[in-house]
Amino acid sequence: MSEIVIRGGRVIDPASGLDATRDVRLRDGVVAEIRENVANVGADAEQIDAEGLIVAPGLIDPHVHLREPGQEHKETIATGTMAAVEGGFTTVCCMPNTSPALDSAERIAWINQRAEETGACRVFAVGACTIERQGDELTDFEAMARAGAVAFSDDGDVVEDDAVMADVLKRCREVERVMMQHCQDPKQTVGATMNDGEVSERMGEVGWPRVAEESIIERDVALAREIGARYHVQHLSSGGSVEIIRKARSEGLADTISAEASPHHLHLTDEACEELGSAAKMNPPLRTAADVEAVRLGVADGTISILATDHAPHTADEKALPFAEAPFGIIGLQTALPLYALALIETGLIGWPRLIELMTVNPARLCGLDSLGLGRLTEGGPADVTLIDPSLDWIIDLGDMAGKSHNSPFDGWETTGRAIRTIVGGETRWSL
Ligand SMILES: [Zn+2]
Repeated sequence: MSEIVIRGGRVIDPASGLDATRDVRLRDGVVAEIRENVANVGADAEQIDAEGLIVAPGLIDPHVHLREPGQEHKETIATGTMAAVEGGFTTVCCMPNTSPALDSAERIAWINQRAEETGACRVFAVGACTIERQGDELTDFEAMARAGAVAFSDDGDVVEDDAVMADVLKRCREVERVMMQHCQDPKQTVGATMNDGEVSERMGEVGWPRVAEESIIERDVALAREIGARYHVQHLSSGGSVEIIRKARSEGLADTISAEASPHHLHLTDEACEELGSAAKMNPPLRTAADVEAVRLGVADGTISILATDHAPHTADEKALPFAEAPFGIIGLQTALPLYALALIETGLIGWPRLIELMTVNPARLCGLDSLGLGRLTEGGPADVTLIDPSLDWIIDLGDMAGKSHNSPFDGWETTGRAIRTIVGGETRWSL
């Protein structure tokens, strides 16, 4: 019988529209009460004074790389989920580009088992669309969905072939899962390392044009519209991509077509590659100030309805390679919330209720986790709660973080607003 009473916080539950000062009682893993004054508290209950804090549903990240199995030197389910709870996340969805890939029901079940044994938060697996993510032979969608795959993606690679992509969308429709696409036309990005433009020319790097992303989205939106499948664009980077999604959603596809943005694409441009080297090497690449602005405005007007970190750990040795050879990606879990606040709230584009919506109920719906009660704060629902101090200043310090890898270009950034306690299933898994 564990009990926590969170007193006097600003309770924000975007799913129900609640935004008010309330007490929240968590008991035996569920939200027992949300009311103005919780009374008759047990003597053993832990009481938390949440005055000045936001009490939010546990944050959900629908796009992380936990590197297990196969690349445990970069991250594991244990270390990656510790990073998650340090960032306020109570649920993460892990991508299938592990080694071996998550391309069978057995491997989905293995992740679930491993997460049960070693995870600090909830973990749901995204299944591969094709065997070994090779882009040709479809996986067994039905068996994988039954084993717990919450979505399908070949993330790290695009599903390139038109006919294979059409089949993937049909299978997703049948098993009622969303297809998450890594939008990169490999024919247009051979040897590419960064955004195609003045900076890549200056650096002598092979440029990665926006159209390599946009052309895939164009094709996929047409296919998804025709087939009637749910389709989600991962980590979009270009202003043109925002426009394609905006148009599709305005044409009646807002329930089936969606997109996510990552912290780095809300802040950084390709100039960071010149300043910081491989710490700023991303896939898709950092673009220009106009793209950053377009992605921010896409969030502000609802075109981009989900935020996702694309947490991609790599060791310091790997990132120390010359720019052209270093791996793509940065970590994101611990720094995501402060960086979103900096890009979106401090600029006046959105407020806390909207930011929390983008990080809770919307990703929950994307991955069908709302059916488990995740992504919302409701009496009787799971006691996953994130306490946020919206006025806490924090200078990002990569040396002081959980997770095996600390590859990030945001060291030393001054932020305001971060999670200070993460409660999963009624248990505090981390507090500042
Ligand atoms: Zn990707």
